Amino acid sequence: MKTETPLQSAPQQSAYSTFIEQVKSSQVQQATLKSDRIEYTLKPEFGAQRYSTQPVKTQPGNTQSTGQAEDLPSLLRSHGVDVVTPADSAPTPAGWMGLVLSVGMLVGTFVWLAKFSNAGGGMGIGMGVGKSNARVYNQGKTGTTFADVAGVDEAKQELQEVVDFLSNGEKYRKIGAKIPKGVLLVGPPGTGKTLLAKAVAGEAGVPFLSMSGSEFVELYVGVGASRVRDLFNRAKRQAPCIIFIDELDAIGKTRGNNLNGNDEREQTLNQLLTEMDGFDGNDGVIVVAATNRPEILDPALRRPGRFDRQVLVDRPDKSGRAEILQVHARPVSLGEDVDLDAIATQTAGFAGADLANLVNEAALMAARHNRQAVLMADFKEAIERVVAGLEKRSRVLTPLERQTVAYHEVGHALVGALMPGNGKVSKISIVPRGLGALGYTLQMPEVDRFLLLEDELRGQLATLLGGRSAEEIVFGKVSTGASDDIQKATDLAERAITQYGMSPSLGPVAFEKNSAQFLEGTSTRRTISSEMAVEIDRQVKQNLDKAHDMALAVLQLNRALLESATQVLLETEVLEGKELRSILAQVQAPMGLDAWLAKG
Ligand code: ADP
Ligand code: ZN
Ligand code: MG
Repeated sequence: MKTETPLQSAPQQSAYSTFIEQVKSSQVQQATLKSDRIEYTLKPEFGAQRYSTQPVKTQPGNTQSTGQAEDLPSLLRSHGVDVVTPADSAPTPAGWMGLVLSVGMLVGTFVWLAKFSNAGGGMGIGMGVGKSNARVYNQGKTGTTFADVAGVDEAKQELQEVVDFLSNGEKYRKIGAKIPKGVLLVGPPGTGKTLLAKAVAGEAGVPFLSMSGSEFVELYVGVGASRVRDLFNRAKRQAPCIIFIDELDAIGKTRGNNLNGNDEREQTLNQLLTEMDGFDGNDGVIVVAATNRPEILDPALRRPGRFDRQVLVDRPDKSGRAEILQVHARPVSLGEDVDLDAIATQTAGFAGADLANLVNEAALMAARHNRQAVLMADFKEAIERVVAGLEKRSRVLTPLERQTVAYHEVGHALVGALMPGNGKVSKISIVPRGLGALGYTLQMPEVDRFLLLEDELRGQLATLLGGRSAEEIVFGKVSTGASDDIQKATDLAERAITQYGMSPSLGPVAFEKNSAQFLEGTSTRRTISSEMAVEIDRQVKQNLDKAHDMALAVLQLNRALLESATQVLLETEVLEGKELRSILAQVQAPMGLDAWLAKG
């Protein structure tokens, strides 16, 4: 629900300090970050006026960790302000439905609940038009190390390598290895991407040149491109160093697919691509970029030699949340009764920034009550506050939703365990993840496979429908969470007939013309008779129905296992390794499974 602002009157001027005060006292509803000013609207209960303010200047080359401008995004975030960045004016509309990632797809449909586009930008006032206004932190001055980042161990491990490239570059150069130039950090807002990038620079003890994507793109055509050039030139002079481009999506959007084309952005992107080709990783410059919308990035950015490494920075699981809480609780005096593990249990779906905010809210609460230490009661109250603010921008599931997701994912896994083919389920998770999933089931292929056999294809259909089938069996009704599975299953069933010639009665006839080889999903139907179309539809539906029946049969037969596995999953949030394998080994095959797999 949006609250209407009063008719567009010109915004009143206000002082930057007033703005900050208003943010801090949670009076601000919405803020638009422009390159030279911030326009914001107060909440209706505070009069809903519009104001405009000039941010304080940040000096280029400032070696100190900068003050306001740097912290503004997190300040806004922690006070629940809706932030609009004009460079990125089309946020993905995303309902919560269709978010359940299906089996076998490591990366499914990306749907980001990125209402808050993690904007860091637009604050610096232009320093001469074409000059990059990067914030520069010198040698080790980001003051951040890996010890400050918790709960994202996989990402840390991958970045450890980058630290080594930067600090021991000679080792790699000697042996003739090419050091990668670009690393892309991908993940939902507030998970610590910016923090990680700073930590890499801190660990390696190299300068950190940071700029936000939206800062490149300004009113004047050509400014962005020359800022990119300037940024890279400065970086080369300071090598070894890190260039950090936050919100890469603001410049990296796919070119040429928007009607009202943005020349400026295209030029900026082209310049970025050119610059990335023009230097050698062995020069000691590594470009780190962050985005929470990888799906809209221009494919050219991900080519080898550019951002060829992608590091997923995801929402933390329970133990990760406990670690993050520990990091942020370090400077806080905690009461005896505070149990950080218990807090971690209650905060499923929180990102690192939310947890940092939670600790701070609890500390504020304790101070307000004139206490010497923060008590568990303060945390309880803070959780409620934070959750209320969170509901808008990220997913906090109700207990029933959580159960639904758990049964759904276990359903996929149990059905998948019986199906032939490559790869068994290796992980089930109900930690709401950045990849647009409320939960996911991960099926790891054991070897690269290029052909899918007929029975494997049927098995996949059943596995895809396993989630929905579990919901039906357990709750007697279904949710919207299976829409992505259903879409995938339908596509696959249709392709089996129209492209792979797997229908015995229709035979090896291609009904699709694959028009663009490199783009999936662009095939068009050949001209066919309407009877043929009816027959295709009928068979697609029939095959899906059979797969659905089989999934139901599997789960009905293994009803007790479905129950016990789900209870474990609800408790631990993640099932993997030995525990998962022992569950999957107990799945029994229903009658008729082999016959169906063989013949359909
Ligand atoms: P992102 O760039 O992914 O949106 P940030 O790096 O800006 O997120 O995170 C904002 C703040 O939230 C950080 O400054 C830090 O205080 C806290 N935070 C986020 N993730 C973590 C984490 N994994 N460990 C510790 N603190 C975190
Ligand atoms: Zn599913
Ligand atoms: Mg960030």
